[in-house]
Amino acid sequence: MKCPIATQDIEVNLENRHHAFKEYGYGPANPELDNDEFWAKRAVEWNTSPDNAKTMRCGNCAAFIQTPEMMGCILGGIQKEESDDETYAPEVVEAANLGYCELFEFKCAADRTCSAWLTGGPITKMTDKRKQMLQMAKYEARKGEYENKSGEEDLEGDD
Ligand code: SF4
Repeated sequence: MKCPIATQDIEVNLENRHHAFKEYGYGPANPELDNDEFWAKRAVEWNTSPDNAKTMRCGNCAAFIQTPEMMGCILGGIQKEESDDETYAPEVVEAANLGYCELFEFKCAADRTCSAWLTGGPITKMTDKRKQMLQMAKYEARKGEYENKSGEEDLEGDD
């Protein structure tokens, strides 16, 4: 498997993560805290209670990939040139329970979430059907962003 660029290039990863944060409310910044405001917002978006919203996280999102191949990419990208003896890469991956968000193409933490959460994850084994589903979800997300931006531009031109 060819590793996604964001698993190998920290700048690309940060850029894509920022996009998820800005456009889809990726968070909370510190999942250990109560973050009442954050969960209240997600609950409104998802038309559910804050307690239920708290159960909808990257760790069980259908865009969250934790296949052995992907975990190899993530570990390798963090470890880079370090030898197995000197690296903390496995500890970093385990502590944050990292996976790869296929929708927004960055490494995300299982305890966080975003507005685009999809039921049915994580993906620990990739199949053709899942690949197709992810491509469709990605397409829909990009389309939604494009339409929102076009709508904003139209409104700006309406004065
Ligand atoms: S799409 Fe899923 S995996 Fe990606 S940031 Fe949102 S909740 Fe996390």
